[in-house]
Amino acid sequence: EFELFCQPLVNARTRECVGVEILLRWNNPRQGWISPDVFIPLAEEHNLIVPLTRYVISETVRQIGYFPASRDFQIGINVAASHFRRATLIRDLNRIWFNASPVQQLIVELTERDALLDVDYRIVRELHRKGVKLAIDDFGTGNSSLSWLEKLHPDVLKIDKSFTTAIGTDAVNSTVTDIIIALGQRLNIELVAEGVETEEQSHYLRRHSVHILQGYLYA
Ligand code: MN
Repeated sequence: EFELFCQPLVNARTRECVGVEILLRWNNPRQGWISPDVFIPLAEEHNLIVPLTRYVISETVRQIGYFPASRDFQIGINVAASHFRRATLIRDLNRIWFNASPVQQLIVELTERDALLDVDYRIVRELHRKGVKLAIDDFGTGNSSLSWLEKLHPDVLKIDKSFTTAIGTDAVNSTVTDIIIALGQRLNIELVAEGVETEEQSHYLRRHSVHILQGYLYA
């Protein structure tokens, strides 16, 4: 009943698709489409988030032929912090992802809310060593600190949808958007804006050198 969907990551200037984020959707025969806002917390509560993520990784590998066979093509997979414990993620990636040796660039997306408490920094270093990029998801909504960003060394910050939505409408939050963009640039971390839905947001982000955009404006 679970299906994989891909949301394209788009080059802000050329509108070329430079990668995807893999998203899981639950199509239940009786209830219809069940929102991830409902089933992800349930899966976490029942210790099913790790097997569910394993399924996502396997299905992505099984369907890898759909994607451009390019080293520059990014494939983002959402991973829970609990998956980092006892190196489970490294073992799963070795067994499922690296065993199939896809050429595409794997990006592990970790939600900022989770990252601070649970993540073992040795696992993060091991991921980097294996050439996997680390993205901090929903950036701006958690309790980040500069020292934490320095320790984690993420390759990508994904600006939360709420800050994209604030562009041109919400003075306080759009100030935060500018600060996040400046922070990413200062620390030399790649920025991806999530939840881009209007041309105005897209223009603004492009003008402020956010190079990769994602949202319903594109797909
Ligand atoms: Mn994500």
